[in-house]
Amino acid sequence: TSIQELLLSRIRDVADYPEPGVMFKDITPLLADPAAFTALTDTLAELATATGATKIVGLEARGFILGAPVAVRAGLGFIPVRKAGKLPGATLRQAYDLEYGSAEIEVHAEDLSDGDRVFIVDDVLATGGTAEAAIKLIERAGARVSGVAVLMELGFLQGRARLESALHGAPLEALLQV
Ligand code: IMP
Repeated sequence: TSIQELLLSRIRDVADYPEPGVMFKDITPLLADPAAFTALTDTLAELATATGATKIVGLEARGFILGAPVAVRAGLGFIPVRKAGKLPGATLRQAYDLEYGSAEIEVHAEDLSDGDRVFIVDDVLATGGTAEAAIKLIERAGARVSGVAVLMELGFLQGRARLESALHGAPLEALLQV
């Protein structure tokens, strides 16, 4: 579709970043283009609303940039899932494996409750490790995941397969496939 062509045209490939052999997908040209950023925000907000979401979770850091306007557009609250050690209040923490080593993410426990249906937003789905950890965190907070949406899915990294069981049938929406 033309929205997909617009979005794709505003993503920059950066070779060998952050390390040799990696082709980094840079979304900053898209953020700088108000037509593209608005189209992306509106599309993600429609997807969130269609899942019956009650909250938007954004994953640090680019998931904040995308998720916050989606939350405003959808008329829902925005909840940040942050790297460990950044949130000041009482948190739940979830560890996950990286290619080398591990990482931890956190959410404020009081931001989510039993009845919540949470829609997760991020820029890129790569191995799925970050999104899988976020799903676990949300469920440990007593809420359910209504869906996950990313601007771009790096299909060759098999993130979709990794998330399948964690999603319990909730949709994984990717606007662009690489
Ligand atoms: P995963 O946990 O392997 O799925 O990696 C996803 C996380 O890494 C997301 O939060 C992305 O923001 C980030 N990420 C991985 N690859 C890229 C990329 O090429 N461009 C931008 N972000 C990326």
